[in-house]
Amino acid sequence: MQPQEVLVAMTAALDRQPDSVSMAKAYRTMAEQCLKAADPLDTSVEMRARLNAVAASLSHAREAVPSGTDARKELEQLMPAFEAARDSLAQREAALGHCRIVLNGTPVSATTHAVVLPDDPTPQETHAARELRHHLELLTGEVFPIRHDSEGGDATPIVVGHSALLEQLGVPVDYNALGLEGLAIRTAGPALVLTGNRRGVLYAVYTFLEDYLGCRWFTPDCTQLPKIGTFKLGAINRTYVPPLEYRATDYPNSRPADWAVRNKLNGTQTELDEARGGKISYSHFVHTFNALIPPERYFDEHPEYFSEVNGKRLRDNTQLCLTNPQVLQLAIEQVRQWIKDAPEATFFSVSQNDWGNYCQCPNCTALAEHEGSQSGPLIEFVNAIADALKDDYPNVTIDTLAYQYTRKPPKYTRPRPNVCVRLCSIECCFAHPLESDPFNATFVADIRDWAKICNRLYIWDYTREG
Ligand SMILES: [Zn+2]
Ligand SMILES: [Zn+2]
Repeated sequence: MQPQEVLVAMTAALDRQPDSVSMAKAYRTMAEQCLKAADPLDTSVEMRARLNAVAASLSHAREAVPSGTDARKELEQLMPAFEAARDSLAQREAALGHCRIVLNGTPVSATTHAVVLPDDPTPQETHAARELRHHLELLTGEVFPIRHDSEGGDATPIVVGHSALLEQLGVPVDYNALGLEGLAIRTAGPALVLTGNRRGVLYAVYTFLEDYLGCRWFTPDCTQLPKIGTFKLGAINRTYVPPLEYRATDYPNSRPADWAVRNKLNGTQTELDEARGGKISYSHFVHTFNALIPPERYFDEHPEYFSEVNGKRLRDNTQLCLTNPQVLQLAIEQVRQWIKDAPEATFFSVSQNDWGNYCQCPNCTALAEHEGSQSGPLIEFVNAIADALKDDYPNVTIDTLAYQYTRKPPKYTRPRPNVCVRLCSIECCFAHPLESDPFNATFVADIRDWAKICNRLYIWDYTREG
């Protein structure tokens, strides 16, 4: 039952028991819930209807409950919340834009056009359509109807998702080529198509709003939308598949779901839910050696599992002895456990702790010298884990860092196809472009050399002054 329906029932109950304080209290709680029930994507029309329902019920209730009674005092306490909701809706309505949109010469309005979803839309398609309607309302002041394919109607379609209308409109879309994130934006005369698969359909809507209608989501708290002006759009035939598979920032305020999906971030730290297309999930995200083989659990019995530095095995600020076969076996078992514990994750990080102190035992040193880099022992270790797991978990990628002492790629070893290298630019100067600053020359060489040997190369970039 909707809160409004409950409120109607409670209004009737108040009629029967106008002196009951507990009834008045229950009524107030329910009315407050109706006032608050707004989904951020509800339209002004929906909000107005809800407010009017509460207003009508409240005026009836105030007539039914005699003034001066405790029950009436209880009712009167509702007024501040009611007035706040009324004022906030009035402000929202006053702030709506008056933009006009013209598509291939035809004005686009809520009376001429309708947002059209497939009959059985995915959660992403539904959310994309609601986001489109929400933003179109903020831009134009008009609430566009949303309908499904089989509902028909005369309105010109603004198609969102895998609609059956695509064929009728003569707009073929190769969904296979789009993958999870590719988007297609097409016009067919005054009709518009915004589509894609999982995250792609959302990205089609956001790209249309951003690139064609000037919407900007600068921060979670700062959205800038045009209020006036005419957008004259010609024919659009745009297909785009993001070249970068993983897109994230490390700023905590880039994690809220709406902001992240509108800006097409998909990293593990974002709060993207199913409706917002989900994300690429890591289990154990960077600097994982200590989690993999905890020194507090193993060091006393097996100091040889850990870094030898200046002839001494380290317990604190340590790394792993990557050429020790027992370390490899323990690591494989632990990653297997991580996979079982995090079935939604597809990336599992096997990467050095966030300090130096790599192992200088004779075996590790010999391998690093042969490979010309400490990344040699690391990639051999990570490859062995990836090999051990690839048959059981073909969708799992083992992720590692090329960071500080492992930044330079190995001479001979090649990361396996199910290994991802995350190369870190922490030493670079960002006051100048990578290629024009001699200070950055070794990094430029490293990025080129990793790119030659990696199936997947991610960059952990740092934005700061040099
Ligand atoms: Zn070693
Ligand atoms: Zn510089």
